[in-house]
Amino acid sequence: MTRHFDLLVIGGGSGGLAHAQRAAEYGARAAVIENGPLGGTCVNVGCVPKKVMWYAAHHHHQVEQAADFGFAVELQGHDWSALKTRRDAYIERLNGIYESNLGRRDVALLRGTASFVDDRTIAIDGETYTAERIVIATGGYPSVPSIPGAELGITSDGFFELAERPDRVAVVGSGYISVELAGVLNGLGAETQVLLRKDAILRDFDPMLGSEARAAMEAAGVVFATGFVPVSVTKSAAGLVVTAADGRTAGPVDTVLWAIGRSPNVDALNLAAAGVATDDNGFVPVDDFQATNVSHIFALGDVTGRAALTPVAIAAGRRLADRLYGGMAGRHLEYRCIPTVVFTHPPIGTVGLSEEEARAEYGEDVKVYQSRFNPMQYALSETKVPTTMKLVTAGDDARVVGCHIIGDGADEILQGFAVAIRMGATKKQFDDTVAIHPTSAEELVTMR
Ligand code: FAD
Ligand code: NDP
Repeated sequence: MTRHFDLLVIGGGSGGLAHAQRAAEYGARAAVIENGPLGGTCVNVGCVPKKVMWYAAHHHHQVEQAADFGFAVELQGHDWSALKTRRDAYIERLNGIYESNLGRRDVALLRGTASFVDDRTIAIDGETYTAERIVIATGGYPSVPSIPGAELGITSDGFFELAERPDRVAVVGSGYISVELAGVLNGLGAETQVLLRKDAILRDFDPMLGSEARAAMEAAGVVFATGFVPVSVTKSAAGLVVTAADGRTAGPVDTVLWAIGRSPNVDALNLAAAGVATDDNGFVPVDDFQATNVSHIFALGDVTGRAALTPVAIAAGRRLADRLYGGMAGRHLEYRCIPTVVFTHPPIGTVGLSEEEARAEYGEDVKVYQSRFNPMQYALSETKVPTTMKLVTAGDDARVVGCHIIGDGADEILQGFAVAIRMGATKKQFDDTVAIHPTSAEELVTMR
């Protein structure tokens, strides 16, 4: 017998759960379909385990610095497998919490892989379900290059399965995942090299961030190879070797980690049966209101190929529910001015336009303020990790249109400034705000 719902949400990750729960709070009879652990990428193989690992590497750096403040500490090594056990247990607790959250709101949980039968019918393991509206929130998976030996490498998913720390690692890629996991591996003692096919890391951001992050990572021991386009991976008794198009090699290493982007989870969905269009890379394009080309089928989160961040998926999901079930006509997520943090060591916080983007949009009317300093945290230390902050202003009133920070605390500093920038704060309003001393953040309201 076919069961009918008001709403079927495919994918129990950040976006799908947020949408189904908000819709149910408004009274919709909703079901979430999930073929893996609840919480999706973020909880199981993304933000959460990554941040735990980031903290571990951060603690290493802190312990090293403790002697400068009079502590007699000696590092006695690091137990990766003990950390993994505790991390996995934490995630298992979160999976349980996510399931009970669904139960509390009367959202049905259907376990299995969903595929469309037609534009209102979904099949899961031979059972069929129909709904007035269907939301695709199936996220993505890590891409692997189509080169000989690629299967000898792992992806971020495999990174979280590592039972022990590999001693020698080559990380391929230049985006968030490459630099974050390279920072963790290096911070926990692995010999780490990063292979870039172009000449810089984090090329989607203001270039100051990539160059400062690379300098900090190099100072901490990470080695970078540029113009390195992998064409094969081979295995010998000594380890894995990555060969580049120009004949250079990297390795032997114990682990090759692909961090070259993510692809949408659409293969199992049989989107053609519902007439849902995809773009050339398989992502499901949506309009400002998360609608696909089929009026009662929506998509949100990573599967749409826009701003692949957990809070974006959640915000899109909640706003869609507010509009469809909460009577808030016109409510939708604006994708401009989304703050984001890259969890390098030290972390990066960035929001708004890069200097280049601002110049393209506002021409000559752009002014840039930049400050590079050693935070007081390092005043007593030989080794210093500089902080760099950049404000980009535009227009007659010198509105702050971009804020880019790399340095200790950038991850926590940014959120409040993102609010101000979204509200249209000007440089004068920044300067009129009394500084908090002594902090690094005060620099943002004292720059000249
Ligand atoms: P997902 O969370 O991927 O959920 C999709 C769900 O759909 C999955 O559970 C999947 O099993 C299920 N599914 C797929 N197909 C089907 C099907 N046919 N039937 C049933 N179920 C199906 N973002 C941040 O904001 N901050 C971070 O620090 C951060 N760190 C990250 C670190 C890593 C290593 C990675 C990989 C990502 C990170 N992200 C981070 C990105 C973040 O995890 C994603 O943007 C977010 O999880 C997207 O949510 P989603 O709901 O779109 O998809
Ligand atoms: P990204 O898209 O951020 O970066 C991948 C980069 O790898 C590309 O930009 C490209 O850079 C390079 N690349 C692509 N193909 C190849 C190839 N064949 N060989 C070598 N290099 C290649 O992807 P990630 O996998 O790092 O992360 C996916 C997304 O997940 C992120 O964009 C982000 O939205 C999200 N995420 C968010 C995090 C956070 O919020 N802190 C943390 C982790 C992920 P180039 O052109 O310079 O070579």
